[in-house]
Order: sequence, then C-alpha cells, then structure tokens
Amino acid sequence: MKKYKIAIVGGGSAGMMAAIAIGKTLNHDLEEIVLIEKTILGEKLLLTGGGKSNIANSEDIKEQLLKFNEDKNFLKHSFYSFTNNDLLAIFKNKGLKFKEEKNGKYFPINGDANSVLKILKEYLNELEIDIKLNSYVKSITKENNEFNIKIKDKKSISASNIILATGGKSYPKTGSTGDGYKIAENFRHTITSIKPGLVPLKINDIELRKLSGISLEDVEVSFKDDKNKVRGNILISHFGLSGPAILDLSNFYNNNTAILIDLIPNMSEIELNKKIVDDLSSKGKILVKNYLKIYLKNRFIDYFLKVIAIDGDKKLSNLSKKDRIKIVNNLKQLKINVDGVMSYEIAMITCGGIKTSEINPKTMESKLVPGLFFAGELLEPSGLTGGYNLQMAFSTGFLAGKSAAKPFK
Ligand SMILES: Cc1cc2nc3c(=O)[nH]c(=O)nc-3n(C[C@H](O)[C@H](O)[C@H](O)COP(=O)(O)OP(=O)(O)OC[C@H]3O[C@@H](n4cnc5c(N)ncnc54)[C@H](O)[C@@H]3O)c2cc1C
Repeated sequence: MKKYKIAIVGGGSAGMMAAIAIGKTLNHDLEEIVLIEKTILGEKLLLTGGGKSNIANSEDIKEQLLKFNEDKNFLKHSFYSFTNNDLLAIFKNKGLKFKEEKNGKYFPINGDANSVLKILKEYLNELEIDIKLNSYVKSITKENNEFNIKIKDKKSISASNIILATGGKSYPKTGSTGDGYKIAENFRHTITSIKPGLVPLKINDIELRKLSGISLEDVEVSFKDDKNKVRGNILISHFGLSGPAILDLSNFYNNNTAILIDLIPNMSEIELNKKIVDDLSSKGKILVKNYLKIYLKNRFIDYFLKVIAIDGDKKLSNLSKKDRIKIVNNLKQLKINVDGVMSYEIAMITCGGIKTSEINPKTMESKLVPGLFFAGELLEPSGLTGGYNLQMAFSTGFLAGKSAAKPFK
C-alpha cells in the first residue's frame, strides 16, 4: 500500500488551496503529498459568480465574519491567517488582476472563472504533488496512527494526516454529494442539521408566478417570525422567488410559512401614510391603480390590488380610511406564503455541516481525531452572497494545509 504524509480528499477550492499551502510550508518531499478528487479539479469553481467568479470581498475581516450564520468566531483565525488580500496575491503573482464591483465584490478583471482555476492548476503542477483524478474515496479508517483510504476500483493508500475537503451537497453534479459528512460521522463527528442555502424559494401562489420575469428592486425581505432582514432585489420566477435578496434570505429559512416584503424600505409606515394622505387632495382624481405606479411596477400593481382586495379603478379621493391603511400596511409588509426552499440541485451552498466546536479553529484539526483536518463548505458555517463562501473555502483550506504540513517541516 502506498504511504503518503498527507492526503487531501476533494479537489475543489478548499482542497487545491490546502495543497498550495502545504507546498509553501514544506518545499520538499512533495511527492509524498496526494490530492484525491472524485471527478476533475475545481468543477464548481467554474460556475461561481455566473462563470465570472466572485472570489472574495474587499470588506474588513470583521465585516466579512458578520456575513456568516452560526459560530462567527470559528472562522476568525482562518480569515486572519489567510486574508482576502493574501488570496488575491496568490493570483496576482501569476499575472491575474481583479476588479472590485458593487458591495465590495472582487472578480477577475477578465470576468472569467477559468482564469482562476487555471492558476490554481499551475501551482499544483509546479508543486509536483501526486494528483489522483476520477478517484472516489469510499471510506477512511484509522489504525496505529495511520489513515487507510479506500478508493473505488483503485488500490487503497495510507496517510499520516488527512485533509477532508469534499464540499457540501449542493450542485451534486459537480461531485459534491455529501460524502465527507459520512466519513466525518464515522470518526464520531457531529453533523449539524444541513439544508440547501443561497437558494430560491418555492411559492404556490400561481398568480404571483404568472409575473415571472418581473423584478422588485431595492426591497427588504424577512421571514415571518424571524428577525433577520435582507435588502436588495427580488426576481419573480415560474417556481417562486429568486434574486440576490431572496438567495441571502434563504440562509435563514427555518420552515417558515411566509415572507414579508417591505416594498418601500426608504419610508417608515408613518411617512408613507402621510404622503398618501397629502396626495389625496393634490392627486385625488387619479385612479388608485395609476397612483400606485409611484411605488410599484405596472404588472405587479394588479397582483398587489387583487391580493389585498382593493378596487384599483376607484379614484384616490374615494379611498376609504380603512383601504388607505390597508394599502400602506401591505406596501410595508406584503405577506407571501412560502412552500419551502428549492433543492440542493440548484442551491449554491449547503448550510450546516461538521460541528465547529469539535474542530480547533487555529489549525482546522479535529479535536476528536488527531491528524484529521477539515476545510471548506463541509464545515458548519455558511455565508451570504458576495465572495464570502469562496473566501471561507480558500482561508480554511490554506490554514488546514499549513497545519497538516507542520509536523513534516
Ligand atoms: C452556481 C454556484 C455559484 C457560486 N458562486 C459563488 C461566488 O461567486 N462566490 C462565492 O464565494 N461562492 C460561490 N459559490 C459557492 C462556492 O462555490 C463554494 O462555497 C465552494 O466551491 C466550496 O468549495 P469546497 O472546496 O469546499 O467544495 P467544492 O467546490 O464542492 O469541492 C469539493 C470537491 O470534493 C470532491 N469530492 C466529493 N466527494 C469526494 C469523494 N468521496 N472522493 C473524492 N473527492 C470527492 C468533489 O468532486 C469536489 O470537486 C457558488 C456555488 C455555486 C453552486
């Protein structure tokens, strides 16, 4: 059985960065390092940012950490030991430049995720570590301080240290099918409840779905009975609701039955009511459905009036106080019933994962099994859109690689 010092399982962003960190730490005997990948390297990375790869965010690390649910302190060490600037420097050293877009999102200047993957592969080739592609790790066990790795239809190998970077369960066609959870469970690690994240919402309301293609811009959304609010754009689709604000909101989904949309987040309920009262005299002759064009898109107005059961063909001046209050209330808190989140097939991430309290945040090593390290989406924390999830994969990957290599320095 071939014996390695370190085996990295999973050749996504986290696994590849772990290999680069090992290379930077050791500089010798790299043929005793193996990276084992079920399919091909970095398939999911190519899909990121709509093929443009929103690789990181320019915010301060403190701000970035706030974009994660669950234990924010856990990621502190990895984010400080391998920062957004350290990450960009890895690519800049090989000639790739980045541009900063809205909300601090960094993208490669050529808008091509492929150029990010190409550079990671270049590093791996230079390191001359052993890379096994199309190699599906079926199980890992530990005996006498050595890990035994069983690979489907191939010879088993052994390693002194393991870095598990098999990703979550989202976009399973890219190879991430949740295998790492089973491997970690076999080592008695706890997997917190997992669910699809950064994912559209299913809505049963057919009238709403008929408005597919319409976007509601700069609105504030929250789940009923939940304090988390997200501001941004929503897109109505043939199955429900999508768009950046909904994707971010989905990370807070907890079997909630409805969402509340504040369609006019720039005005308080009192201000909005006052404006409409003022307009009653100056714009009184306008039909309610035309008046609402100040606030809503044309096609959405009919839906809105139908849902709140108000006759839009009435003149504004004929609106009763009760109906005016109803309009104000619903512009500020339109309730739409939710039928769940869409599946892992189209979820950008998996929320939840290996419980962080069982991992040393300074090294990414398991507190239960010495020599077993974790990195990437497999871990419990989940981030909002904006480059935070790739940063987590790269930062935890780098820290895991550096820590796993330390005993062989
Ligand atoms: C469509 C889409 C767009 C996204 N856009 C962005 C974005 O712009 N910015 C951002 O920050 N994040 C984005 N993300 C999230 C980001 O891609 C992930 O957070 C990141 O890829 C996680 O990296 P990872 O290495 O942990 O896991 P993965 O990239 O999933 O890699 C895991 C690897 O492990 C391999 N593997 C699994 N099981 C085994 C096994 N048993 N044996 C061997 N190998 C195995 C898999 O084949 C895979 O290659 C996006 C995700 C999707 C799906």
